[in-house]
Amino acid sequence: MDAFFGAASGQRGPRSRTRRGQDAMIRLEITLEEAAFGTTKELQVDTAVTCTTCSGEGAAPGTSAQTCDMCRGKGEVSQVTRSFLGQVMTSRPCPQCQGFGTVVPTPCPECAGDGRVRARRTLTVKIPAGVDNGTRIQLAGEGEVGPGGGPAGDLYVEIAETSHTVFQRRGDDLHCTVTIPMTAASLGTQVPLQTLDGLEEVDIRPGTQSGQSIPLHGRGITHLRGGGRGDLIVHVEVQTPTKLDAEQEELLRRLAVLRGEERPSGQFAPGQQGLFSRLKDAFNGR
Ligand SMILES: [Zn+2]
Ligand SMILES: [Zn+2]
Repeated sequence: MDAFFGAASGQRGPRSRTRRGQDAMIRLEITLEEAAFGTTKELQVDTAVTCTTCSGEGAAPGTSAQTCDMCRGKGEVSQVTRSFLGQVMTSRPCPQCQGFGTVVPTPCPECAGDGRVRARRTLTVKIPAGVDNGTRIQLAGEGEVGPGGGPAGDLYVEIAETSHTVFQRRGDDLHCTVTIPMTAASLGTQVPLQTLDGLEEVDIRPGTQSGQSIPLHGRGITHLRGGGRGDLIVHVEVQTPTKLDAEQEELLRRLAVLRGEERPSGQFAPGQQGLFSRLKDAFNGR
């Protein structure tokens, strides 16, 4: 009973036909570039809007809601019963008007008396730079209009970021891996990389080891709060040459002799050095 009439207010009497509309949620796919710099999107939203035929009243044009004759507009009916405790008065919602206190004799033909109809609208939504998977943007009053011309709920736009072919996002940093031949890693080189800001040359210094990472500062995602940007971290993977022809093999053997590396003793350390340093690099951003 309390729940029916609203326990919070403790109010008795007819309940209003006007109620606030429900919140709505819509998923929006955006690219990494759009997340990095922000964008503006047109959204097709299918929600309940106020019925224009009856202006949300629910009554057919030219008619109006009338006071319920069963409860005389009170929205509830009382009943007195005799029990061994004496007279007990119970009230229940009026079955004729469902507690509204009024009846609509001729419902609006457009909305069947609900006061709202479904319609498709186009909304323009500004997506700020720095949003991530699961970020929700609240658009106040853009949700469903309530029954009886009640105020609209809110619309939430939930961001779903599509995966990028080269970059992996971790927080506001971007990660990618570049594979370079052993010779280039040893001699040093420059590798062109299409960053979010355009083509840039990644500087591979002579003597670069596999697993090292090269940070490009400020080439990541814009911080959602506070401005500035994350980094783009390029992880280097050095490729050992395979399928050597006779001349190449001869050259490598000569190099090994020159460097005294024909029978290297190797350097042993506990655990997986390479993997550990790679993880450390990822966390330290270098
Ligand atoms: Zn209507
Ligand atoms: Zn009634």
